This record gives sequence, structure tokens and C-alpha cells, in this order.
Amino acid sequence: MGAMVRKPIRVLADDVINKIAAGEVVDRPASVVKELVENALDAGASAIDVEIVAGGKTLIAVSDNGFGMDRNNALLAIERHATSKIGGVGDIEKIATMGFRGEALAAISAVSRFRMRTRPAEELSGTELVMAGGKLQDVRASGCPPGTLVEVRNLFFNVPARRKFLRSERTEEAYAREAFIAHALANPETGFRLKCDGRTVSALPCNATVGQRLGDLFPSIALADLRPVSGCSGAVRVTGFVGLPSATRADRSGQRFFVNRRPVAATLLSGAVRDGYDTLVPKNRHPVVFLFLELAPELVDVNVHPAKREVRFFSPAAVREAVSSAIRQALRAPGNVFGGVDRALPLAAVSPSRPPGTARGRGAGEIEHPVRISLPGPGRKSFARSRESMLPLAGQAPGAVRAPWSWRRFIGQIGNLYAILETEDGLVLMDFHAAHERVLFEEFMALSASGDVRSQALLMAETVVLPPADADCLRRNLSALQKAGFGVSHFGRDTFLVDAVPACFGSAPARGLILEIAGALNEASDRAKGIAAVEEIVARSACRAAVKARTRIEPQEMERLIERLERAEMPYTCPHGRPIIIHFSFQELAKRFGRTPPSGESAGNG
Ligand code: ADP
Ligand code: MG
Repeated sequence: MGAMVRKPIRVLADDVINKIAAGEVVDRPASVVKELVENALDAGASAIDVEIVAGGKTLIAVSDNGFGMDRNNALLAIERHATSKIGGVGDIEKIATMGFRGEALAAISAVSRFRMRTRPAEELSGTELVMAGGKLQDVRASGCPPGTLVEVRNLFFNVPARRKFLRSERTEEAYAREAFIAHALANPETGFRLKCDGRTVSALPCNATVGQRLGDLFPSIALADLRPVSGCSGAVRVTGFVGLPSATRADRSGQRFFVNRRPVAATLLSGAVRDGYDTLVPKNRHPVVFLFLELAPELVDVNVHPAKREVRFFSPAAVREAVSSAIRQALRAPGNVFGGVDRALPLAAVSPSRPPGTARGRGAGEIEHPVRISLPGPGRKSFARSRESMLPLAGQAPGAVRAPWSWRRFIGQIGNLYAILETEDGLVLMDFHAAHERVLFEEFMALSASGDVRSQALLMAETVVLPPADADCLRRNLSALQKAGFGVSHFGRDTFLVDAVPACFGSAPARGLILEIAGALNEASDRAKGIAAVEEIVARSACRAAVKARTRIEPQEMERLIERLERAEMPYTCPHGRPIIIHFSFQELAKRFGRTPPSGESAGNG
């Protein structure tokens, strides 16, 4: 241990304070991009240009056509705790702007060579400020366009410890682009441009919808794999897009959340997504989501972190429920992919990237497709027209969700595993084992929800002896199982008597079923409680009872299965998240066969 020497206590000099404080707001070029873009948005800009050179280590420049500042305000803006956005403590409780702490410009200019040119539209000339390491070097009148331009050079030139911690130019550029993408997504009515090392990477037109912006930013995302979300529960409005369970990722990098247009990270929201998808995606996969939450500013606290990356909700449970139910609803509606937007992809030559370290190998910004599934949906014009003349299927309430494909021709089956169907829109391959699982699962869940599960008595009651831990688990969940249609009673110690199973399981051997259920319950008991646990059990059991793979089934039987699948709420994946259907559109087939696509469906622009 080094010798400790008592040193006198000193009040730090302003420039030291500023450098320390700067570290909380600015830790890398991406945070400069974020702060400057937020200022431009707060200034009401309709066009924002971002330029970075060498990953932002050499230059970050952001210009906007917002309301600008006069000379006095420009000088005030670079002071710490100088803001035009709040006036007092009361305002903190209902913040409607992106900024409010009055720290960003002071922080950024403290750790860089900084130049700002700004002009309010109503004034004839503007003001130019030059600073270095927090020291004002020059202020002069400047002939500049209305709006504001901020240039930040040599970030951390005077804080070598920080500069050393910056990563490679490519990495820093990726982070900066991610910040750009987040704000561009959240503000589709604003035009954005991004230039990296002199090359235009993104040019995003103003007055776009979220859907269009999404398409512009991520040309690699198949729009057919997204469903629009639009839900309102209580004080929370949830909009955006969620990916079909067939297009998931191994990590959460495809999940973007916005609260009142602020890009945020919140574990609560990932949890809500998990709830919404429920059994539709396997545990280790993560759906792609773009979710925008809107709620009264006083119901969310954005002042948790200097960089405002995190937010706290006044009523987390309500937010969670709003998000998960909006997702559930979206996934169940096989409707129009982009709600009225008829623009086809790809729209722009943009290649957004994600921070390396979150991406491994895969093309940045891309959704990973284990298999490409896109059910024919009315998103395409030709299909929309043909669908309008169709009546809802029998047995469906008017206004209820319609089947994802209303017409199909069963062509045959191959490998005793897959059915081949022709639909309005192309060719569908169906894993009928997986389809059967889904059908049984949903039929069962519907009955179970209405407390209407029919049991089928076994010819002979079976006794099942379980390992002590499983037995204990089953004992505790006995009533849930009985409600689910299992005739199970405790028969002393670790023994149970099974005299009935849910009718939809047909001739599934009761003993194996109970053993499996007990095992599953035991595994899941601490986490997935109550209904969730039962759902899981049912899914597993349904799987067991489903058509055994590799058994041939008769055409009429197949027709019936398809009809039942048509009525399913989630016909895309089996209860374990495996895909049921792989669809090849005529358009895709034409592309593969080198035919030119039919007119009106040209792949380039719609
Ligand atoms: P905050 O955004 O938290 O208020 P900043 O340090 O980022 O703090 O900005 C300080 C002030 O400077 C803002 O409140 C705003 O009045 C003004 N300002 C900053 N950037 C711009 C801009 N691009 N256009 C107009 N005014 C700006
Ligand atoms: Mg700001």
C-alpha cells in the first residue's frame, strides 16, 4: 500500500468541474450525436444533417433548420445549467422536450474544439462561437443560414484518459449510427441525412410514416415479417411494429423502445415483449420489435440518468400490461403489413449498422431468418383486391380476425412430413405435425379459458408414482390440472390416480403425460407460475398427442387440419416457436426463375 498523505480539501476550479461533469453526458462520439440531434429536434427542425469523420473522433457536425439562437442566447447556451426548456423544479415532472438539463453544450465544448454557427430566421445575420477545451476563443457575427450548425472536432483532445478509451473508428462509427437511427426512427416527419467520411449513408425524406422510415432505414427487413401495433390501454398508447415469431434473433439487439419519442433502454419493456409473445418464440430467441410508447410526461421519469437513457414509469405494471396486450393483439391480426402504406422495399441505399460487440458475424441491422416465412397478406395490392370480395369464414364473428389465407388447393404431401398447398399468392409448405400441435394447443387453450375443457375418461384408471420432488409439485398444482381437464387425484404419498385426460389429447398415454407434466412443472415452478406453467404443459402435451411425424395422413384429414389451422389465432408457429409454414410468393418464384415480376409489383419502388 502506498503511503497515504492527508491533502487539503479544495473547491475545484470550474474547468475541472466541467470536465468531470462532461464525462457523465459525453462518453463517446455517439453521445455527442445524440445530444446535438436532440437539440435540433427541440429547436423544431424539419431537416437535420449529421456528419462524422473517423468514427467521430475527428469531426462530428450536426446542422439543423430549427429556430436558432441570437447572440445572447448562443453565449448562454454554452454555459452549464443554461437551458430554455425548463424554468423550475416543477417542470421536471412533466418534461416534453428531449433536453432540459442544460448540460450538453457546456459538456461537449469542454472536451473538444467546438464551433457553433446559429441564426434565428427573423434576424439578418447569425453568430459564430469558437471554443477550445471549454474556453471561449472567438465570438463574431456570421453570415449563415437560419438554424444551427455545431461542429465538434478532436473530441477529448484535452482528456487523454478518455480519448484512450475510445474504440476503433469503425466501432465508434457504429455506435454513432445507432444513435442516429434511433432518433431518425422516432421522428419520421423530420428529414435526416447522415454522412460518414464524406459518404452519404442515409438520406431520409421528411414527412414519412414510421413504416416508411423503417423501410428506409432497414431495407433488409422483410416488411411481410412485421405486424403493425396499435393499442391503447389506460394512460398508455403503444404503436409501432413487431416481428413475426418466425424472424427472431439470438439477442435483444433487434428490440427498440421509445417513450414519448425518446429512445430508451428498459428491462421492464423487454419483459413485456416476452409476455406478449408468450409461447410463440423459443426461450432463447428474441423477436424484433419497434415500439413507441406515449404517455403523459408526468407518468414517466426521464431524469434518472444524465444521458437520459433510462426511464422510470409511475405505474410499471400498467405499462407492462399495455405493451404485452398490444403485441398479442398485433400478432393475432394477420392484417395489412404496413397499414395503408404502399411502398415496396428496398427504398433507399442505406446500410445501418449496429455497435459491434452486439453483432456477431451477421450483416448489421439485419434480421436473421432461420427460415423465411411470410404468409400471403393483404399488403400486396393484387391480393388486397381479391380479398375484398371475400366473406369472413363461417363461424367467425364479423370483424374478427380473418384466416391468413382464404383460398388454397391441397396438392399433396412429401416425406410424410410436409403438405404442399397452392394459395392466392404462391406456394406454401406446411409442417403438418407442427400445424397439428398449434391447432390442439389453441383449441385446448380456448376451452380452458372458458372453463369448458371436456375430459375423456380412461377405460382404466392408472396409478402413477412420481419422484418426490415431482410429486410435490404436482400436488401443489393439482387444481390447475383438474381445471385443465385432467382427472388426477392424490392417492397418498407420491402416488396419483389418473382417470381422465383432456379430450383433445385423444389416446395419449396418461402415465407418460402426467410424468411429463410433473417434470415440466417442477422445472418451471419458480418462474412460470399459474397459467403460464399450465400453458407450457399443455403445449408439451399437445405436441405429444399430435400427429406423429412420418405418418401419412389422408387428404380429407389434411383438409380438416388446414381448416382448423385457419381458425388458429397464431398460425405461424407451433407452441414451441417452430415454424409451421414456409411460403414462397409468386413474386419470389418469378425472381428465382428469372421472370420479370408482374406489373404493379415491381420490387424496386411502389
Ligand atoms: P438542454 O438541451 O438540456 O437545454 P443544451 O446544453 O443541450 O441543454 O442546450 C442549451 C440551450 O441551448 C437549449 O436549452 C436551447 O435553448 C439552446 N440550443 C441548443 N442547441 C440548439 C439548436 N440546435 N437550436 C436552437 N437552440 C439550441
Ligand atoms: Mg440538449
